[in-house]
Amino acid sequence: AQIKQVEFVKSSSKPKDCPKDDRPEFAILGRSNVGKSSLINALVRKKEVALTSKKPGKTQLINHFLVNRSWYIVDLPGYGFANAPESARMDWSSFTKGYFLNRDTLVAVLLLLDASIPPQKVDLDCANWLGRNNIPLTFVFTKCDKTKGGKGKRPDENIKDFQELIKKNYREPPPWIMTSSVTGLGRDDLLLHMSQLRNY
Ligand code: GDP
Repeated sequence: AQIKQVEFVKSSSKPKDCPKDDRPEFAILGRSNVGKSSLINALVRKKEVALTSKKPGKTQLINHFLVNRSWYIVDLPGYGFANAPESARMDWSSFTKGYFLNRDTLVAVLLLLDASIPPQKVDLDCANWLGRNNIPLTFVFTKCDKTKGGKGKRPDENIKDFQELIKKNYREPPPWIMTSSVTGLGRDDLLLHMSQLRNY
């Protein structure tokens, strides 16, 4: 299940420009600052892989990385930029929704969720939309090492609250994994999970 080799393949500005071979792929999605770059770097164990643009309003791209010459990690534009103009948010939704609904080789979306804070509305909206559209999904909770020194809820409590809030939009609760890019928690679980999904 380990990642031995990663190569950047291309950035696409439209879903129809994505690679046309039939290799399986996992799309990584999450709010800006959720810890996506850190997680990708922890998975790949390289510093220079995540090439995403973090600036809202810039051209949003779908970035394909080929792993072990056999499957893709797809880095999608972040969502929920607090200061982005409404037009940029709309672009995100039509653009990324088109990708989810039409990408036949998509094995699962890895939706990154920050377990160190309470459930956020943008994340709930996204999880609910994916659930209602039957997009295969795994919740990847990030920053599970973080505790607020007794203040606020613990990561496991935030995770439970999140799952409670989205469950009516799912026939079955999606699989979920707790991770930390600081301690390495969940890294091997996530790699194993992806290898199991690819074999179905
Ligand atoms: P991105 O915007 O989603 O790519 O997020 P980054 O990977 O740049 O991380 C955003 C911030 O969260 C940075 O300050 C990271 O150091 C911090 N961070 C990311 N992952 C973790 C984690 O697992 N634990 C903790 N404690 N901090 C994290």
